[in-house]
Amino acid sequence: MVCKLCNNKIGKEKYRIGKGCICGHCYELQPSVIKKSIRHMKANNIEKLSEIITSAKSKPWGGFLNFMLCKDSIRINDWEIKLSDISAVKFGFKPLCEVGKDNQVYGDIFVQIGVGRVACIIEDVIGREELIYSISGKNIYYKRPKNLNILETLINQTIQKGICDTDYIKERMCAKNKAGAQDKTKKSQEEEARKNSRNRKKSDEKTFSLDSAKEMYGVVTPFTEAQLKKKYRELVKKHHPDQGGTALMFSKVQSAYEILLKSVAA
Ligand SMILES: [Zn+2]
Repeated sequence: MVCKLCNNKIGKEKYRIGKGCICGHCYELQPSVIKKSIRHMKANNIEKLSEIITSAKSKPWGGFLNFMLCKDSIRINDWEIKLSDISAVKFGFKPLCEVGKDNQVYGDIFVQIGVGRVACIIEDVIGREELIYSISGKNIYYKRPKNLNILETLINQTIQKGICDTDYIKERMCAKNKAGAQDKTKKSQEEEARKNSRNRKKSDEKTFSLDSAKEMYGVVTPFTEAQLKKKYRELVKKHHPDQGGTALMFSKVQSAYEILLKSVAA
């Protein structure tokens, strides 16, 4: 019997996959998530997924990730994955501190990306939020930010379509934020958002302008990455919730950093 992955003769160690078998050597090379579901996967899927996962793992994860939805892919920092290779995206929240004043905690927003039929292969932090908690008996419940739910739905719709209309998503997010204040039906809002997205010119930083980010960091163009990082460390120290800062300000420091990083002098 021949290994479906390396085409060598299979020795005493044999692993059954969706169609045929693979050798022990090839099995050992697979990431653990693939090993778990290997019985149901075909050789070409194993190869493809293995490549995706390995490339994801080789990137510098950790800290704050720059999560970006592009036309037909998702980019996380420098790593890019095609929408057609993703089955689902999920956001979650992990509290990082004890419950504080005003029933608030801060924590990390993390993202999970499912590839193929393998769920949750990639998971890392993309931001920091302040949340409201409620207590019931011995349990503490954290209310997920509404925006995150909407964004998650929109991203998953995009994945199903296989093509991303970022303007449409931005408009939907804005429309949802204003919902309730406006006396409009859901359908007309969606229609309007769609129309607006076609007419409006692309703007990358709608929530935080480059100018206000520069002002916060006290930098003037051109500035270097080293200068930016130095200032970042100062601001993080100053506004870290552990040091008495607010989570809102802390997350603004993060957002501004991401914006400024794109404007670093080459
Ligand atoms: Zn093999």
